Amino acid sequence: MYRTNTCGELRMADAGKTVTLSGWVQRVRKLGGMTFIDLRDRYGITQIVTNNEIDGALNEAANHLGREYVAQVTGTVQERTAKNPNMPTGDIEIIADSIKVLNPSEVPPFTIEDDTDGGDELRMKYRYLDIRRAAVRKNLELRHRMTMEVRRYLDGLGFLEIETPMLVGSTPEGARDFVVPSRMNQGQFYALPQSPQTLKQLLMVAGIDRYFQIVKCFRDEDLRADRQPEFTQIDCEMSFIHQDDIINTFEGMAKHLFKEIRGIELTEPFQRMTWADAMKYYGSDKPDLRFGMEFVELMDTMKGHGFGVFDNAAYIGGINAKGAAHYTRKQLDQLTEFVKRSQIGAKGLVYARVGEDGTVKSSVDKFYDQDALQALRKKMNAEPGDLILIMSGDDAMKTRKQLCELRLEMGRQLGLRDKNKFACLWVVDFPMFEWSDEEQRLMAMHHPFTNPKAEDIPMLDSDPAAVRADAYDMVINGVEVGGGSIRIHDSKLQAKMFEILGFTPEKAQEQFGFLMNAFKYGAPPHGGLAYGLDRWVSLFAGLDSIRDCIAFPKNNSGRDVMLDAPAALDQKQLDELALAIVKPEKKEA
Ligand code: ASP
Repeated sequence: MYRTNTCGELRMADAGKTVTLSGWVQRVRKLGGMTFIDLRDRYGITQIVTNNEIDGALNEAANHLGREYVAQVTGTVQERTAKNPNMPTGDIEIIADSIKVLNPSEVPPFTIEDDTDGGDELRMKYRYLDIRRAAVRKNLELRHRMTMEVRRYLDGLGFLEIETPMLVGSTPEGARDFVVPSRMNQGQFYALPQSPQTLKQLLMVAGIDRYFQIVKCFRDEDLRADRQPEFTQIDCEMSFIHQDDIINTFEGMAKHLFKEIRGIELTEPFQRMTWADAMKYYGSDKPDLRFGMEFVELMDTMKGHGFGVFDNAAYIGGINAKGAAHYTRKQLDQLTEFVKRSQIGAKGLVYARVGEDGTVKSSVDKFYDQDALQALRKKMNAEPGDLILIMSGDDAMKTRKQLCELRLEMGRQLGLRDKNKFACLWVVDFPMFEWSDEEQRLMAMHHPFTNPKAEDIPMLDSDPAAVRADAYDMVINGVEVGGGSIRIHDSKLQAKMFEILGFTPEKAQEQFGFLMNAFKYGAPPHGGLAYGLDRWVSLFAGLDSIRDCIAFPKNNSGRDVMLDAPAALDQKQLDELALAIVKPEKKEA
């Protein structure tokens, strides 16, 4: 028997028992005549003690232990003289009778402790050592508990978990596909699913009226902190439902998770905001509502005073950073630098401080007299001590997005984005289409299977850009944790949608014929949504990146540095697949 107990289990009530523990040696310390060993496993750390003066052989064994050796210890549980209230096992220790090395370890490349000395890349390369650290392991435990609760909740509502294939066909609509060459069908390729979207819709045609799947999805996109090339969705679909049914069912799931995982009871219905309002007041389709600081449009207030930047602007908007009038010139210069960074790309920033006496001083005093500034103050609802920040630009949408970045930064600087506070909302009524400069055509904002709002269908031909969709996102603290839509279930409307998206009937048939054909055989009204599991877990764990809640993530260049993937194939494999590598020609400098 390797162990009678785990390293996280023993307490004062076990004093006097003879136990055997197995685990990894976290640390060995010599103190006077004693040697202390911290033995660690998944469940915790237990202190082992040997008394050198009494038992020379044991002392010898303890002396040979190095960091991360796998060891087995048998001994007696005893009350500690110096208790450690910071450890669950801190009241006891084991007086060792025998110590056996089960497997030695090389010196690990970084210390396996909460505050490790290993940098990011090193920890990724030795991820199996990183996962030994409690901080990382806890995220994986949280992830496990969340998936268990998701299954419990959905099973309770009669949802069936059904697996869909990982080797599917390529659908160029959406992100780029990861493709897999076929050996048996040389020259042909599978694609890894970007989501099981069409397959779950086919399951609705098949009469499975409540489906879910916790499923890997693959998108070949540029990576960010909240994106990985492979990620996990909680993918769901329902039949015979309206938008409200979906929203209620999955708001219920969110509340269930908050309660079971975070112990937070959310009793109020989540706020709902139209996409148009989200853009107008927050410049984002995923506003962080932990704080206000809504945009106020200032076109009428600020134009016509001879300040050319504003006079020529297509949009002028301000935010009121409450209580921030104390910002120094240096801090304001830093904010200006912040909005000018290439990722944001704004030209500049105008500020106005409201003094304790109510007078307003601004960076453009030259153009605005006190009356004009008081009008600004009134419009911004600003009180003494407040700081008004104004941005403008010749593209309204772009400027709103820039102002959104400033709002989020101010929220951060003023401590309004508390990780233990949660602001949940649904953003609804997304536009059906968005214009793509790259493709020079309309693209589906959610996906081509999304139902246009019934009252907007007449505009499909005359003004498609104004058509809204039955599409919704759930947003928590500025993170899009999920999204979905009511689907088109009429093959004619689906064909029309492909036409608007620039598909010829032949191309639509070639790529999505399977779906349109299925719709001819009695497709029920249906809709659904997908939650991003990685984002949920990182939100609940208070992490800044989804990487830390994934056991084996990729780095920012999409590489697995531990497995050293992707990598070249050998010639034999290439031949079997009938593939040849054409090296991109070196560009002339
Ligand atoms: N398949 C969609 C996505 O991956 C979600 C949905 O509409 O259910 O974004």
